[in-house]
This record gives sequence, C-alpha cells and structure tokens, in this order.
Amino acid sequence: MTNLQVLSPIDGEPIADVAATAPSHVPSLVEAARRAQASWARQRPEKRAEVLFRVADLIGARLDSLAELESRNTGKLLGDTRREALRAAEAFRYYAGWADKVAGETTMIDSSTLVYTVPEPRGVVAGIVPWNVPFFFAAKKIAPALAMGNACVLKPAPETPLTAMALLSILTEAGVPDDLVALAVGGADVGEALVDAGVDLVVFTGSTAAGRRVAERAGRALTPVVLELGGKSPQLVFADADLDAALDAVVLGVFASCGQMCIAGSRLLVEDSLHDDFVAALGRRVEGLRVGSPFEQGTNVGPQVTAAQRDKTRGFLTEAERQGRVRAQAAVPTAPELAKGFWVAPTLLTDLAPDARVLRDEVFGPVLTVQRFRSVDEAADLANRTPFGLAAGVWTADLGRAHSLAARIRSGTVWLNTYRVLSERVPFGGRGDSGHGAENGTEAVRLYTQPKAVWTSFEPRTPPGFDVV
Ligand code: NAD
Repeated sequence: MTNLQVLSPIDGEPIADVAATAPSHVPSLVEAARRAQASWARQRPEKRAEVLFRVADLIGARLDSLAELESRNTGKLLGDTRREALRAAEAFRYYAGWADKVAGETTMIDSSTLVYTVPEPRGVVAGIVPWNVPFFFAAKKIAPALAMGNACVLKPAPETPLTAMALLSILTEAGVPDDLVALAVGGADVGEALVDAGVDLVVFTGSTAAGRRVAERAGRALTPVVLELGGKSPQLVFADADLDAALDAVVLGVFASCGQMCIAGSRLLVEDSLHDDFVAALGRRVEGLRVGSPFEQGTNVGPQVTAAQRDKTRGFLTEAERQGRVRAQAAVPTAPELAKGFWVAPTLLTDLAPDARVLRDEVFGPVLTVQRFRSVDEAADLANRTPFGLAAGVWTADLGRAHSLAARIRSGTVWLNTYRVLSERVPFGGRGDSGHGAENGTEAVRLYTQPKAVWTSFEPRTPPGFDVV
C-alpha cells in the first residue's frame, strides 16, 4: 500500500500521511457498496432521512474543527471554509428533506390502461471531486446519492483528502451502514479504476481535460455521466450599475479562494464610458489585497492549493506580461516561515491582445483580465467568446437589458446585479466546455434516480391496434 503525503500550501510542510487506495482494490469497494445499497434502498425513506439529518447535525456541531482542517489543507480563509462546512450541513438537511418526497407519476393511456412510474435509485454512484472545495463537494455528491437510496464511492483529490475522511467518520457515527459510502483515495489512476468498476452513474467535478477522459471511459461502458467542469466566466459592468456593489462583487468574484473557483468571474467586461474610472478603482483594490496565511487576522487572499496550480498560474502571468499590461498587483508574503507557501500575486491585466491565452483558457488563479465594450451587442459577443459556459454576471440598472443579456449569454448560471450566490435548491451546470447535466434541487432528484414505467391493463387483452398473429 502506498502513502500520500498531504501538504499545507501555507508553508509547504507535510500535515498528514494518508493511505492511498490501490486501483486494483477499487472494484471491491464498488462491490461492497452495491451489497450495502440493496438494503439501504429497501429502508423506509423516513429512516434514510433520519440518518442524513443526524449527519447534518454532527457537521453543524464540528464546523470550527472542520473549517480549520480544511483551511490548513487548502490555505483558504477560515470564513470561506466555515461557510462551506455550513453549506455541507445544509446539503445533508436539504436532501434528507427530499428522501420521502420523491414520487412517480401516473398516466391513463386509455380507459383501461394505466401507467405508473417508479423513481428507482441508480445503484452505486461514483463521485469524483477536485481540490478546491473538498468538504462541501464531498457532501454534495454523497447527500443526494444516499437520500435517493444509492451507495456512493467518492474519490477526493489526492492533495486534499482530509476533510472527506473526516466526513466518512461522521457518516459512520450518524448510522450510515458500513460500505454504503467508501473513499477511493488517490489520483487519476484511482479515478479511472472507479469509472471502469461498473458503477451506475459518474458525477464528476473537475477540469475540462479530465472530464473529457472520464466521459470517454464512461462512454465505453455506457455509464451515464454528469460533468461539472471549468469556466471562464465574464462579469459585465454597465455605466448605470451600482458601482460600489459591482466593484465588491468583481473583487470577491475572482480573488476569493485565491481565484480557485469554477465560477470565478475572471473576465471583466466594462462599458467604454466607465472603463478608465472603474479600472483605476479596481487597481487600488487589488493593490490593497493582503495575501497571507488564512490563520492571520486581516488576510484577504490565501495561497494556491497546490504547487502545480501555483506554477500554472505563474506561467499564465509570464505569458500575459508579453501580451498585455499588468495594471495592478498585490504583494505576496515575505515572512520566512511562509517562504515555501504556494503564493501567487493577485493581478489585474489590461490592454491584452485579443488572442491572448489568458482571455481564452481557464487560469484557476487570482488573475482578472479587463476588456471594454461599446454596445450591448459587443458585450454579449465578448461574453460568449469562449468555449466555456458556466456562469456570468451582469451589472446594470436597466432590467430589460439585464434580462435580455441573461437570455443571450451562453452559460448555465447568470447573476443579475449579484454574483457567486448558490443554493442547493437551484440547478447548477454548464454548457460547452463547462460540461453537461445539472446538480441541485429537482435536477438532483432526476439525476440520482431513474424512472421505471409499469404498464397495467385493467383486463388482460391484446393492445388495441395490434393484430393477433
Ligand atoms: P482535475 O480535473 O485535475 O481533477 C479533478 C478530480 O478528477 C480529482 O479527484 C482527480 O484526481 C480526478 N481525475 C483526474 N484525472 C482523472 C481521470 N482521467 N479519470 C478519473 N478521475 C480523474 O481538476 P482539479 O485541478 O483538481 O480542479 C480544478 C478544476 O475543477 C478546474 O477546471 C475547475 O474549474 C473545476 N471545477 C469545476 C466545478 C464545477 O462545478 N463546474 C467546481 C469546482 C472545480
């Protein structure tokens, strides 16, 4: 058995050694989960709900320790990791509420033919999650899967497995049966073994490149797959907007979590008449950002979660310096104890060549580009000028314009005069390179169940319109 060394991105020091799952062991996790699922699915939904409510309560009672562990492993601010842990508890509560409300439909085909549908659990669900929101994403895969009567084998990212492991203990404590949820800990090889292990649904959150590989593998076995992938989301700011609110949302929308958000509003599009003033104000905000340890008072931005991601972001910046202008940049920490942390300076880029890679590819770091537009048509055109389609923000006082842009922008989520708010009750998913399928709300009920249609004739007979042969 090999061990994974887990590092803290704050100082680059090891914080845990975790036993990795051998790819060859993954099929036995799936088989055990399948055995456990059969009796879990037969439980009364109210019983399943009770267990999930207990999970929510246990998470709620441990918010501080979960947030602290997550912050140490990801470098994210305690306020963020605490809110994510709270959202994880809410997710368990929300899906617990669904467990006894999932119902089928009845259709009278004619006066003596009735069809009823039964939403059946899928079976064993594979959840594969990235390193940017480890605890909440683990909860977001496991909670709806269990509520609808499935088992779940979860693969956390190898860099951030610690809070998923903590969640597994909480599930056991809450009464989730043995083997119903398992962790497959490791990298891409473990993920591939999981996709190949005969699971009944793959719910993948991660990069577009890995999503393509997962979809190819899943396709070979005809396993249904939902892909929540990367983004390159625009924030459009018109001169008539509430500019203070827009400025706050633009800063938070891309520099929070050190830019490591799929929904990062990484492309700012500003109306020409407002451009210079808004960019000047934004530059002052960027220069004022305090980068440092999440455990230090006053820190606004932590490190990147992995050294590989830091290097990737720095690569984008080096290239962008040749293709545009670094308009503003924050300072990175100089304290000797943080010297080995995975720091990247939050950066505002302007005057970029239209074909600059940073305008097209996802950075997943604290980098904001600015472009100007002169008309609504040009704004919509720039907003849609990427293969991604995850999210967008529109800031304007003109409601007609806001709603018409919401219709024209190709993305799964559009925020009008706000940004980055999410709810378990609201569907979330992408278009194009941001993936397909949706999670949350009634979409999750559809995703984690499949309908069986049962046809009933009131009198045994040959169906009308068929000739007896
Ligand atoms: P990644 O694709 O490298 O890894 C994501 C997960 O997939 C990890 O657990 C990884 O080990 C696993 N994986 C990688 N290759 C695999 C393969 N061939 N088969 C099976 N599993 C495999 O992504 P990352 O770098 O960890 O995360 C960042 C990416 O995730 C960004 O692109 C970001 O936009 C995206 N993301 C999307 C959403 C969303 O909801 N749309 C949310 C968060 C992050």
